[in-house]
Amino acid sequence: MERGIPALHDAPRHGWRIKPGEDDPKSKGKNSLQVKNSTHVPELTQFRKLALATAVPKAEQKAGSPPPEITHNGTKVQMCVGYHVKGKCWEKCPRAADHVAHSAQDTAKLVEWCKKAYAEE
Ligand SMILES: [Zn+2]
Repeated sequence: MERGIPALHDAPRHGWRIKPGEDDPKSKGKNSLQVKNSTHVPELTQFRKLALATAVPKAEQKAGSPPPEITHNGTKVQMCVGYHVKGKCWEKCPRAADHVAHSAQDTAKLVEWCKKAYAEE
């Protein structure tokens, strides 16, 4: 699959940093830019290990619902589990609008979802 070179000017100017994928040895071969969450909240770190080992669709299935929705600048999207729980995501993520810090209230919603999605068997 051919991936184009991501347009830097499309990136939001606040809240998160972008890094060329080449800097990360795990992402070799991908041309997409990795987005790292620099404001990872402690409430979500407990789910991180399980989240990294679980594909999001599988987690959604387990939770019985998609991640909570959030509105940023009038755009409603599902919360980005990769960014907020796993701590990293990609610039071309369909939920990229959510690659910004959450309020305590929003974090609480995501924690509730994670409790179901990443419950230990
Ligand atoms: Zn994302």
